[in-house]
Amino acid sequence: MKQIIESKLNGVRLSTHLASPSEAALRNLSELNSVRLSPHFLLQEFIHLRRHPDNIPTAQDIANLTFGCLMVLEPARLIAGPIIVTSGFRCEAVNRKVGGVRNSQHLTGQAADIHLADPSRFRQLVEFLKTCKYTDQLLTGSTWLHVSWTPFGTPRHFIRIGYYK
Ligand SMILES: [Zn+2]
Repeated sequence: MKQIIESKLNGVRLSTHLASPSEAALRNLSELNSVRLSPHFLLQEFIHLRRHPDNIPTAQDIANLTFGCLMVLEPARLIAGPIIVTSGFRCEAVNRKVGGVRNSQHLTGQAADIHLADPSRFRQLVEFLKTCKYTDQLLTGSTWLHVSWTPFGTPRHFIRIGYYK
């Protein structure tokens, strides 16, 4: 799938397009922000360009985020209400800056750190993600959690509830 998408783009990564802050590139950035991944999630919620201007995903990263939105986050939203994404995709530099692990799934758009607009529904969110067939890894604190997905493999269902405080 990665090869197909990259060949459609003639091997040009979005990050190459957007490397210089020309007017065209800035216009592309706002277009990138407004890309809708699923009915309730925009790309901007996962890349936080205002905070990290160089956090530009590849087309494959965006496809991976879309998988997570459709298979994990939209169903979770049905159960627990609006979801706030504190960290989604991270380029290498951003991942280093926030102290992410070297092989973090955030690097490829296969994870999100989230909390709820209505924290009283957090337990319902955790219960749903524990049983969601697309959950790869689930690590939870008391009000936030990290959930990952694997568009290309069998989910591990690695669950650690309350592991982080
Ligand atoms: Zn995370």
